[in-house]
Amino acid sequence: MTREEKTMKSEKIYEGKVINLRVDTVELPDRKYSKREIVEHSGAVGILAITNDDKLIFVKQFRKTIEDELLEIPAGRIETDEIPDTTAARELEEETGFKSNKLKKLTAVLSSPGFSNEVIHIYLAEDLQEGTAQPDEDEYIEVIYLTLEEALDKILKGEIRDSKTTLAVLFYKALVLG
Ligand SMILES: [Mg+2]
Repeated sequence: MTREEKTMKSEKIYEGKVINLRVDTVELPDRKYSKREIVEHSGAVGILAITNDDKLIFVKQFRKTIEDELLEIPAGRIETDEIPDTTAARELEEETGFKSNKLKKLTAVLSSPGFSNEVIHIYLAEDLQEGTAQPDEDEYIEVIYLTLEEALDKILKGEIRDSKTTLAVLFYKALVLG
């Protein structure tokens, strides 16, 4: 038995700068129809950057979606014609000022496959050179440095809630440091 859903109709609802929204009518394996609301996204990167004295770099910013400030790893959207490696280097420098001489992709995950095709590529950035941050004009960012232990403690206490950030820190601890 196939679980594939055949698209019978696809309707564009909204085309935006960050996302597009479409509603697909699908035929299920039992021939019944259903609707799927799908957020199309061009993908993003998140960068876990480690300073030369072993601090992890986070950015604090207000997230309108949840009306609260979040502590996250530097991150951003992959722009048209950009490859994720380029986005990672660009976003790290824009948001924190740091350039990395050792940027490595750790993994790529689906952030919310129930309703979006967004892929987040997670990078590890080491061997850093400090420079000047140049956030986008609508970004208000505070750079925060934490030790790995402090970051793990914040995950445990629910003070770090962003999924890519939790994933990156735990991935680093479990699979990079071992
Ligand atoms: Mg960003």
